[in-house]
Parts: sequence; structure tokens; C-alpha cells
Amino acid sequence: MSIETKCECRHCGGHIKFEVENYQAGMVVECPHCGGKTALRLPLFFEYATHIRIAVFIVLFIVAAIAIQSHFKTLNEQFDRTAAQAQKGYGNMGKAMEDAKKKAAEATADLAEWNKKLSGATNETIIPQSSTNH
Ligand SMILES: [Zn+2]
Repeated sequence: MSIETKCECRHCGGHIKFEVENYQAGMVVECPHCGGKTALRLPLFFEYATHIRIAVFIVLFIVAAIAIQSHFKTLNEQFDRTAAQAQKGYGNMGKAMEDAKKKAAEATADLAEWNKKLSGATNETIIPQSSTNH
């Protein structure tokens, strides 16, 4: 999009329209009103356009920096919450493993008990056999 502006001819004071994009400092044109050579001049707003752009850029940069910072703060908080939940989950898992170990130990004890009983029963059956060997 081309932006049009105008300045006054230094000879006749007539308005000369020109496009801002085509403007170069010290540009001399022929006045369409009087035909005299006159230098184009940008209005003050365009003279300071670069400064305004820089100021807007700095403001946007600060706003973006604050937004990014708060975003990272939120991310950090979420990460902390997730870590706490994971820790809780591991705690529960550890407890479940402790329970499982206890149950396994109980089952092993039961098995030992049954083994003892079984071997006792076997001994009982063996005893009559050994007594017949006498
Ligand atoms: Zn003129």
C-alpha cells in the first residue's frame, strides 16, 4: 500500500502530491503548478515515523517480554504441580510395592509351611517303609 502525502512548492506555495515510499531526502521535483524546481519535504509525522516505529517496537518488545515471562512462570507452576503429582504417584507405587513384597513374603512363609507339612507327611509315609526294612 502506497501512502500519499503532499508538501508546498517553495515558489508558488502550491501543493505537490507524492508517495512516501518514493521519497528520498533532498529530492528535487518540478512543480506541477509553476514549473519551478522545488525540494520535496516530508511532513513532521513522516520525519519522525522511524522514531515512532522504534518506540512502538520497544513497547511491543516489553509487552512481549512480560507476556513470555508470565507464560514461563505459568509453565513452571504447571511443571511443579506435575512433578508433585508424579512424586505422589511414585509414593503410591512404592507403597503398593511394599504391600506386594509383604504379601510375597507371606506367601513364601505359607509355602515353607506347606513344604514342611508335606515333607512331614512324606516322612510319615517313609517311616513305615523304613520300619519294614528292619
Ligand atoms: Zn510551484
